[in-house]
Amino acid sequence: MVDRVLPKEQVSAFLDYLRRRYRLWAPVAQGGGFVFAEIDHPESIRLDYPTTMLPPKAAFLPPNEILLSIDMESLESAPPPAEDKPIALLGVHPCDLHGLMRLDMAMREEPSDASYVSARRGALIIGLACVHRCRPEAFCDSMETFRGAAGADLYLTPIEDGFWVEVRDGAEESLADAADCFRPPSDRQKREKDDINRQIDLEFSGRRLSLETLADDLEKTYTSSYWAKLADRCFSCGACTAVCPTCVCFDVRDDLAGGCKTADRCRSWDSCLLKDFAAVAGNENFRPKRHQRLRHRMMRQGSYLAKRFNLPAFCVGCGRCPAMCLGKISPLEAFEFSQKGRTVHV
Ligand code: SF4
Ligand code: SF4
Repeated sequence: MVDRVLPKEQVSAFLDYLRRRYRLWAPVAQGGGFVFAEIDHPESIRLDYPTTMLPPKAAFLPPNEILLSIDMESLESAPPPAEDKPIALLGVHPCDLHGLMRLDMAMREEPSDASYVSARRGALIIGLACVHRCRPEAFCDSMETFRGAAGADLYLTPIEDGFWVEVRDGAEESLADAADCFRPPSDRQKREKDDINRQIDLEFSGRRLSLETLADDLEKTYTSSYWAKLADRCFSCGACTAVCPTCVCFDVRDDLAGGCKTADRCRSWDSCLLKDFAAVAGNENFRPKRHQRLRHRMMRQGSYLAKRFNLPAFCVGCGRCPAMCLGKISPLEAFEFSQKGRTVHV
């Protein structure tokens, strides 16, 4: 890791560089909140945003996309033409960096997802430290995802003079043409950065889970009546999965177009909370009850995929799902239920 400083007066030159070389995605204000969007006007970028409604995964796994177009006469198929530039994703907070790493694991597991891998190829991920808790529902401290440059090519921490920039080993070459924007840090800036790190430790010191045992603790609750009680507050609306940075399930359908001469194979995000998700031929459904679907999602986030990918959990504690949920259901309450009576070592 190499440390640099991006002075305030060089920020717009750096953004110009990013826009020349990449398709730049960054947080912008929209509808009273913030979203990640492809940037046409750099002045619209809001690096002071607390959190976004949808996670940045939409840059690589859009809510709706065409995977293939099929000529119905020859039955030849082809993916949409590749984009001319890779994506630079700017301003990704630590929980979402952890979310992207989990997304990579799920989508790159063999057989890998060709469309995702293509969108992700050559991408530059620029993280942005969280100095303050973004919303009361966030529990990134419990999930240990509130800090760190892991998963980022560059990681920015706001300082008085601009941004402290940690450059991942191997990422320097992607900045070769922007090297003039950066300065070596001074001793004063280093002290300021150390102070900010101490503030971050204090701000996110509310750990409430034992991650080491979470997956096993959660699985022990499988037959508990707790899940039916929790599901009394669930409307099976699917909002929780739509806003989740680590949910990857999708549906695929073929749309006939052009007088049935062509067909588009399209995919859209799906949700394991919706009743039809587990419907199969023969009028069967292997998770017909709401509590079965809710339990499945919590188990997936706290246990199944954690074990599969050797992680403490798949949920990163971003707090989006409890903030969006009509019943205010949070994975944290389910995880805490599974650990009732267990001492949390901080
Ligand atoms: S957002 Fe809440 S109410 Fe809607 S499906 Fe998810 S848990 Fe149920
Ligand atoms: S399960 Fe909820 S809190 Fe956890 S990562 Fe997904 S949206 Fe965030």
